[in-house]
Amino acid sequence: MKLPGENLFKILFVLVLSLGLGLNIHCSAEELAALQGEEEEEEPDLLDQLIQEWLLYELLDAGAGGCNVQQGLLLETLFNQYITEGGTVSPDAPAGDGSDTAQSNPFYDPIGDQPLPETLGEPEQKYMLSLYGPKPITVQEVSPGVYMKESDMLFSEDQLYDYADVAENVYYSSGIATNSYRWPRNADGVTFSVAYTVDSSLPQSTKDEINQAIAHWQERSFFRFVARTSESDYIHFQDGNSGCNSYVGRVGIGRQNINLAENCGFGAAVHEIGHALGLWHEQSRTDRDDFVTIFLDRTDGDSNYAKESSHDIGPYDYESIMHYGSFYFATTDQPVMTKKDGSLIEPNRRALTDCDVTGAQTIHSNPSYNSAL
Ligand SMILES: [Zn+2]
Repeated sequence: MKLPGENLFKILFVLVLSLGLGLNIHCSAEELAALQGEEEEEEPDLLDQLIQEWLLYELLDAGAGGCNVQQGLLLETLFNQYITEGGTVSPDAPAGDGSDTAQSNPFYDPIGDQPLPETLGEPEQKYMLSLYGPKPITVQEVSPGVYMKESDMLFSEDQLYDYADVAENVYYSSGIATNSYRWPRNADGVTFSVAYTVDSSLPQSTKDEINQAIAHWQERSFFRFVARTSESDYIHFQDGNSGCNSYVGRVGIGRQNINLAENCGFGAAVHEIGHALGLWHEQSRTDRDDFVTIFLDRTDGDSNYAKESSHDIGPYDYESIMHYGSFYFATTDQPVMTKKDGSLIEPNRRALTDCDVTGAQTIHSNPSYNSAL
């Protein structure tokens, strides 16, 4: 049985803790009253879930090193979601019967659980120019001149070569290829500018999630997203009927799409923007075998678990918004990837970690990664 005032106590509890984190939650007396009223009618107790979820992140983050999920932003996101949508505590829960959502399945991934495009071709071996020489890459053509890797990273045919051309790489590795994947620095010398447009045909819910995802990146990082005026290279958010996916970095093809199907959600939008800012998947780091065990006999998508020959930035981060969950591309009911101790990995599709932000910022602001500086 609930005690009188219990709900009010919980709300005050969250607000007091939030103030302790230096957060600024805007919530009027009317909203609190409405929240209290809504909460009383909901089963199960969603405010309880919200608090428990946030406390869980607090506990998980304790002593987790420098990659902590921004639990404060997570709380703020969940809280705002709670107020505006009246009871959905998972930002990623898609519409549907709820049989396989973040609420019923902690390993649900709005990105990996999207159906792959029917037009996806057979895996092909290509090469890509990189800071470290020609880099082999397995891709699948998804539409004429557009190639997909790991279900959600896109590459243009101009980025890919059929053979590793060493002579050409000597030319490109001097920095041209590197710089071409970076967004331009603003006159202030500190921030970087990312121009974007949003397809008018997207449903309002997706537009809202894009705005939230942009706000989340902008609040945490030095990237500044600007509505495109005359910029030649820009992101175009649309629904390309191909799930949730993005090009990696600024590709230099003019308009580069970020595709967001209706059930991709806020977390996938943050993840795909991460790709557009130059991030690859966390578990493809060169040091990943020290942190995860991969069972390729439990998936038919070996190339989706490729290890990249790249330079890792910062510590390995299980909670990176760019990390797969344990069942990504699983063909059995067994996990394809676990931590070294055998425990499972829940995909974080809720908030950026400090290391996500540091990674994207480093490849733009560190002269070792951006020779345009
Ligand atoms: Zn991805």
